[in-house]
Order: sequence, then structure tokens, then C-alpha cells
Amino acid sequence: MQQETRAVVIIGSGPAGYTAALYTGRAGLNPLVYEGDQPGGQLTTTTTVENYPGFPEGVAGPELMDRMREQAARFGAEIRSETVTRVDLGQRPFLVQAGDETVRAASIILAMGASAQHLGLESEKKLTGHGVSTCATCDGFFFRGKRVVVVGGGDSALEDALYLAKLAASVQLVHRRDQLRASHIMQERVAREPKISILWNSVVEDILDVSQGKVTGVRLRDVKTGRVQTVECDGVFVAIGHAPNSQLVAGQIDLDEHGYIRTQRGSATSVPGVFAAGDIQDPYYRQAVTAAASGCQAAMDVERYLQGSAYQDWGKGEAGGAGRP
Ligand SMILES: Cc1cc2nc3c(=O)[nH]c(=O)nc-3n(C[C@H](O)[C@H](O)[C@H](O)COP(=O)(O)OP(=O)(O)OC[C@H]3O[C@@H](n4cnc5c(N)ncnc54)[C@H](O)[C@@H]3O)c2cc1C
Repeated sequence: MQQETRAVVIIGSGPAGYTAALYTGRAGLNPLVYEGDQPGGQLTTTTTVENYPGFPEGVAGPELMDRMREQAARFGAEIRSETVTRVDLGQRPFLVQAGDETVRAASIILAMGASAQHLGLESEKKLTGHGVSTCATCDGFFFRGKRVVVVGGGDSALEDALYLAKLAASVQLVHRRDQLRASHIMQERVAREPKISILWNSVVEDILDVSQGKVTGVRLRDVKTGRVQTVECDGVFVAIGHAPNSQLVAGQIDLDEHGYIRTQRGSATSVPGVFAAGDIQDPYYRQAVTAAASGCQAAMDVERYLQGSAYQDWGKGEAGGAGRP
């Protein structure tokens, strides 16, 4: 039986995956995109995106992603809704498996994104997008002059607190220990910022008020004394870490100590022919525009890679040409 072969398979359908699909599509490579279980990626979970260039009035996250999908499809990207369950980067061409379906790929773009870690509260889930956020850069602007709580004690939490202090009326940092994990320099900056105060030894038991459909406060428990108190606020930023969705390639490709894919010279990974784009390789910026930009880089890197490879004709002609080398 002839096996489906592809010049490039893109795994993930966030801004990085769709942009990579747009560019490889326009380059005539007939890309195949696997969308996974979150078609459109993280932005489909948010309401208004105000910082993606080209939309002066803002744009709804799901609408922005629909438009990116449509644009990629217009230039020949084939988009499938399956989740990739296995890749074998030790074989050439690479093997990509999605359920029962197996595809051979001359090159792969990994764009599976990252997931913010959550507190695990029902109220947190219900109020996400209604006062609860995991992205200060994205949503801080909506809290100008308001009172916000930041949960966490690492560098990212302190960075978020400092960023929000420029916009909000007050920032209360909730940390479950009696000292911060963050670097010394970040702690010094926070100590110098009069708008930030720290609630030590505290965990969030609940976010209020689901019945009103908006954030009005947090219920905190002191882990040492057991005392429970309610702190009023208008927004909650959960900054307890991100987990890159790199399990699929763990053990086959170089990852950093937090599981992010290591890239160099644009999007190249430790395996020639495999490229990575978006949040899965970016522990720092984590924005739609930076993810899209790195999707463009990955697509151009794929083009260059294929030019010099034995598979350079794979994208030509009909999509998914079968049975070639
Ligand atoms: C609530 C919220 C609000 C945000 N607001 C903004 C904002 O206003 N402005 C901004 O610039 N950024 C915002 N961000 C950040 C932005 O969404 C991310 O930086 C961006 O989406 C990252 O894009 P990505 O393409 O790397 O991956 P993601 O958007 O994370 O998409 C990952 C994709 O990979 C797919 N996938 C994962 N595993 C597999 C698999 N095994 N097989 C197939 N597919 C797979 C998923 O289904 C998904 O489609 C926000 C994030 C959140 C959570």
C-alpha cells in the first residue's frame, strides 16, 4: 500500500502553526496541518485581542484565529482536525502518526504551544476571561486604575506584578511561602514599587464571585495559621508557570530544563529537518505576534532545508503525493 508523503507537516494550529501553513502554502509545499484538540490554539479562549497589529478596534480571539485558518487554507494548506499521537524523528522521512493515520514527512514544524498552569479551582475556570487571566501583557490594560491580585512567587509572577503596577491602582502578590523564589534583582524591584504588597503564606481557596460573572475578590487561607480572609479585587492574574506541550518529542529532540524546545538560527532544532515555532520554544515573549513571526521563520527555514534535500520535489504537484522516495 502506498503511504501518504508530505514535504512538510505542521503540528499545531495556533498563530505559529497557521502562519507556518500560510508561508509554506504560498511556497507551493502543500503543507498538512494537524490542529489538535484546541483548533486555533490559546487565543480561542480569550475575548478581545487588542495588541495584534492590524486591528485598531481589537478583534475577538476566535475570530482572529478563524481568519488565520482561512488565509492558510486559501493558499493550499490542508488542515485536519486530528491530534498527533506519535512522531518518529529517528526515521527518514519522518513518521507522523495521528490515531490510525500515518504520514511520512520530509520536514516537520512543531507548533504545539504551551499551556499556562492553573490553580485548579472551578471558579477560576468559570471566571477566565471575566477577570481571571494568565497573561498580564495581554490583559493588564483592561485593569487600568483597578485592584489586582497576582498569584505566584517566581520571576514571571514578579514581572507580571511590576508590569501591572504601571497600570493598576494596586497589586497584591499572593504567595504560599514566606519567601519568594524569584531572583534577587526582581525582589529588589518589587520592594521598591509602592503599589505592590505581598500576602505571605497564603493560598487562594476561591475566586469570587461566579454568581455575578465577574471577579470581586479572592478568598485566601493562611497555610500556617489556617486563618481565612477575603481580599477584594477586580482581577486575578495566575502566574504559577507554563508547561510547553513538548511531550510528543521528549527524548527525541533537545529540550531545556523546563521542557521548551531549544532552537537556534531561527527555528532549527537539534534534529535537522525538524523546526519549532511559537510558545513551545519561547519561554519569554509568549505573544500571538511573536508566535506568528516564528511560524514565518520556521516556514522559510523549511523551504531552505528542502532545497538542499533529497525531498525537494515532494511539495510539488498534487497535495500529499504518494509513494515518492
Ligand atoms: C487567555 C489568554 C489570552 C491571551 N491573550 C493574548 C493577547 O491578547 N495577545 C497576545 O498576543 N497573546 C495573547 N495570549 C498568548 C497567545 O495566545 C499565545 O502566545 C499564542 O497563542 C501562542 O501561539 P502558538 O501558535 O505557539 O500556540 P497555541 O496558541 O498554544 O496553539 C497550540 C496548538 O497546538 C495544538 N496541539 C498541541 N498538541 C498537539 C498535538 N499533539 N497534535 C496536534 N496539535 C496539537 C493545539 O491544538 C493548538 O492548536 C493569550 C493567551 C491566553 C491563554
